[in-house]
Amino acid sequence: MKHSYNKLSETYIPIALRRQVIERAQNCCEYCLMGQDDRSIDFAIDHVIAEKHGGETAEPNLCLSCYWCNSYKGSDLSSVDWTAGGQIVPLFNPRQQTWTEHFRLDGARIQPLTSTGRVTVYLLRLNADERLDERDLLLALGSYPCLPLTSDKALFAQVCGIGEKLVNYHLMLSFDAIALGLMSSKLMFEDIP
Ligand SMILES: [Zn+2]
Repeated sequence: MKHSYNKLSETYIPIALRRQVIERAQNCCEYCLMGQDDRSIDFAIDHVIAEKHGGETAEPNLCLSCYWCNSYKGSDLSSVDWTAGGQIVPLFNPRQQTWTEHFRLDGARIQPLTSTGRVTVYLLRLNADERLDERDLLLALGSYPCLPLTSDKALFAQVCGIGEKLVNYHLMLSFDAIALGLMSSKLMFEDIP
């Protein structure tokens, strides 16, 4: 059973709407691309524009967010891009912007491509050590990034910044890692008298 935590939103989100947001996001955090199935804590339905700024509890203003992204984002809308002269820049908006235009994966690390990407990586601490460690592990097991990998290889190639031909190779390696993991756990169980 998954743990719950106090969400930032005070407004009740109807189950049908919640389900709609989860399905649209394909059960993935729309900021860090972590899969909900890989976390022990339920993901949050995030108000992209927080309610305190007048953001509505409606489908065009909601996204699926993991515990960490949701907590670090809080009710913030922007941060400061110090590498661009201290400009105040709005955070990535999953409803109005495309992930691959602002970020690219370099292994488990999320590399910002734009000013929006930089402030979002910074504020949401997307590359914090413990998050990188977790994603490294999931990457090796083939469950990160959380995307329809087998059905959308073009998207996967775009996210990882690799050629489409390499995707098959990556998937093959991932499946090998899973097979090895299964083999070693089987061996461990066989060792138990
Ligand atoms: Zn996240």
